[in-house]
Amino acid sequence: PETPAAEDPAAQSSAPETPAPEPGRVALVTGGNRGIGRVIAQRLAAEGYRVAATHRSGDVPPGILGVQCDITDTEQVDAAFAAVESQLGPVEVLVANAGITRDTLIMRMSEDDWDAVIETNLTGTFHVVRRAARPMVRARSGRIVLISSVVGQLGSAGQVNYATSKAGLVGMARSLARELGGRGITANVVAPGFVETDMTAVLDEKTVAGYKAQIPLGRMGRSEDVAAAVAFLAGPGGAYVTGAVIPVDGGLGMGH
Ligand code: NDP
Repeated sequence: PETPAAEDPAAQSSAPETPAPEPGRVALVTGGNRGIGRVIAQRLAAEGYRVAATHRSGDVPPGILGVQCDITDTEQVDAAFAAVESQLGPVEVLVANAGITRDTLIMRMSEDDWDAVIETNLTGTFHVVRRAARPMVRARSGRIVLISSVVGQLGSAGQVNYATSKAGLVGMARSLARELGGRGITANVVAPGFVETDMTAVLDEKTVAGYKAQIPLGRMGRSEDVAAAVAFLAGPGGAYVTGAVIPVDGGLGMGH
């Protein structure tokens, strides 16, 4: 006869298993219509989250609630959250992924190049985090994940605007971690290296080869690599991780 697990001494002495994610938690990903954000949304949906994703253009993957939103516009951010709240419930996991580049050397960088990147990557992220915070505080639980970049710590010639915005997200997450930790809310940063998406498709072969030579793992990252780190931070394994910067860069930024 089979021994019930509860009476099996070997089972009793084994370490507790990592609990599965609570089914049906609500996650919102910004910029879920393409690139890394799309894959993060799909990964969270595959793990059983009820997922909404913002899209400015295009569409979100099947099975995911799409909400139109330009994150630079606070009214659109508020309307997007309100739509998610009414259709799925309060957002328990926020992944602030939407971002842009406007690369050029400092002496050629226009006010517009600077403003567009700061307004999207930094101020836009502030808008979504601020809107997400109150319901999380009320629920006394929440997970905030900001998608930064290896260049926020490493620096990058031709990306003064972008690297500044991405470094700013580290200060944002760590301040949120301190401010909201007492309410059961974590705030962390995922810092990808060079990931194959539209954003990096514009780089010429020589530049890509140059980057690859500096990556210990010898390849570009995949959106799935980034999504795995986000899923960890959102899930039960990330419960006691806050204020962290998790590199997903093949070792490119090691030591920073
Ligand atoms: P993509 O260019 O492929 O996608 C960017 C996404 O952000 C799109 O969904 C885009 O929407 C959205 N977005 C841009 N501006 C706004 C806005 N104002 N309001 C709402 N949504 C907006 O980029 P990736 O997928 O490569 O990058 C995703 C994130 O990862 C970014 O924050 C990026 O900085 C970061 N990252 C990327 C790396 C890479 O190598 N690819 C490396 C390190 C970090 P739309 O389609 O409408 O333009």
